[in-house]
Amino acid sequence: MDFFKIDPRLEERDRAICEKVAPRFAAVDAVTEYNQRKVLSQFIKHKVNAVHLGVSTGYGYDDPGRETLEKIMAGCMGAEDALIRHNFASGTHTLTVALFGLLRPGDKVLCLTGRPYDTITGVFGIDGKVDGSLADFGVEYNQIDLLPNGKPDLNNIRAELSWNKYRVAYIQRSRGYSLRPSLTVDDIRVLCDAVKAVSEDTIIMVDNCYGEFVEKQEPCDVGADLVAGSLIKNPGGGIAPTGGYIAGRHDLVEKCAARMTCPGVGREVGATLGLNRELYMGLFNAPHVVGEALKTAIYAAALFEDLGFAVTPRYDEKRGDIIECITLGTAEGLCAFCRGIQAGAPVDSFVRPEPWEMPGYDDPVIMAAGAFTLGASIELSADGPLRKPYAAWMQGALNFHSGKTGVLLAAQSMLEAGALKI
Ligand SMILES: *Cc1c(COP(=O)(O)O)cnc(C)c1O
Repeated sequence: MDFFKIDPRLEERDRAICEKVAPRFAAVDAVTEYNQRKVLSQFIKHKVNAVHLGVSTGYGYDDPGRETLEKIMAGCMGAEDALIRHNFASGTHTLTVALFGLLRPGDKVLCLTGRPYDTITGVFGIDGKVDGSLADFGVEYNQIDLLPNGKPDLNNIRAELSWNKYRVAYIQRSRGYSLRPSLTVDDIRVLCDAVKAVSEDTIIMVDNCYGEFVEKQEPCDVGADLVAGSLIKNPGGGIAPTGGYIAGRHDLVEKCAARMTCPGVGREVGATLGLNRELYMGLFNAPHVVGEALKTAIYAAALFEDLGFAVTPRYDEKRGDIIECITLGTAEGLCAFCRGIQAGAPVDSFVRPEPWEMPGYDDPVIMAAGAFTLGASIELSADGPLRKPYAAWMQGALNFHSGKTGVLLAAQSMLEAGALKI
């Protein structure tokens, strides 16, 4: 198998690591099989047929493919109703539509999981004036910081919700670019119970990015009222070329639909332009692709821990998302890691990633991404800011075998750069 130059000592470790992770892979397979049956049963229940894979243009009235896919997505998310559209430009756009759909001037929103993902801070208007933010429209934002162990602070959450009336309680499932653990569905259940116990009318909304199909249950199965996410992550199955979804209580989904297009028109419009087929195929593939991404993350965790690096989560820890964080310790290590991931990509493998100043970040950021869909992080990708502890956030892989090759090439690249001793 000498298509790639990989040090024999790494190949030897690979064999040991594969044995070590085998029981974890079996656990991933069990979840994949469960979720694949869940998704397949929805396709069958809603009698998907060739008409659904067709094209609509113009207003897109009565597009049977779009309407049926929304029912299927609701079923997959344990929700009453859903919107799933290519018109959502990104995960942040989807979350924005949902938040603006639910909140009105004078309302308060409480984030239960500390500071949210970077791109969401501007939506709330957390760090001062952002034109068009929720703050700009008179919605007040507050957050309860996480405990030092990275878990939600239930006591403070209960106290704040009993003192003040909040329209929305916001939960971020994935870790984003932080070292805190992702929330498992059980963690979300505990949060939902805590919120409902003190403030029954507060809507619980979950940023479900990177979490879909990682476990057998989804947030709406355990008490969340609304979830939203991106189709160039888990639920697009590596096939959807763009888009997002919102799922949850019917009345709330309708509010989001009014914001998504226009009040009074809502979900009735939205031409699908021939993308139905890719959205259907992507959703159908999603449980499997998420399983492959999880295996790649577990493998990377085991390998890099074995090579002497701190990893989170560890290979045998319970996961709430597909992200693996590997602390590489030095700028050179982080850059070499990303160069290796890039070198193993099916697209743009010859590109050498370099750190650059990104808007919104204090330090230069290095990114490795060689994907069929630009920016798709369900495909193998890694990035991190050039600051201590020089950690790489790695996620995705359309299939484990290519994902593992990328991970081995990352180790090889570090070895060649003198950033790894074996
Ligand atoms: C990816 C992500 C988003 C949305 O990001 P986009 O780049 O706008 O798709 C939101 N929240 C979390 C936690 C994410 O990981």
